[in-house]
Amino acid sequence: MAGPLAIIQLSYEALVAKANAVTAAGARGHLHTTPPGCFITGSPRRAIVLEADDERAVYGFFDDQPIEGRAKPLAILLHGADSVPEEHDALQPACPAVNRMADRMRMGMGHFHILNPACLANPNPGRWTILFEDAGLGVLESVSDERPLADIRLVERLIYA
Ligand SMILES: [Zn+2]
Ligand SMILES: [Zn+2]
Repeated sequence: MAGPLAIIQLSYEALVAKANAVTAAGARGHLHTTPPGCFITGSPRRAIVLEADDERAVYGFFDDQPIEGRAKPLAILLHGADSVPEEHDALQPACPAVNRMADRMRMGMGHFHILNPACLANPNPGRWTILFEDAGLGVLESVSDERPLADIRLVERLIYA
């Protein structure tokens, strides 16, 4: 596993400013939300993690309260409005491995990450990894060369539901 990452800790306001600066500069960046014990942070706290891909720098806002609501506007900023699908959007079927992970998540058994080819936490650099940290089964992965859009849509809907 590639983690935990070296994370520069920021306030939420400073993280928002950083995300805006990355976007304004036309640079690449992406976001993770992490629960306690996640391999990306190795922290007992929740976090919003911003990877500034072109800087090769990683920033994080840590908190004990749920952070998905605060991560959502940043996800839209960095990944585009399409990254947070509406509940009524029709979904193409995800692959069997990711559907199995989704079933485990609905049972409360773990959490997802979408790891792009540039992601420093990706155990398969250069490829897309849908990764599920399962409380009972350990780390589950679905790896692909092409961006797995149907899988991503399913996972994003579950993350931001
Ligand atoms: Zn995690
Ligand atoms: Zn990443």
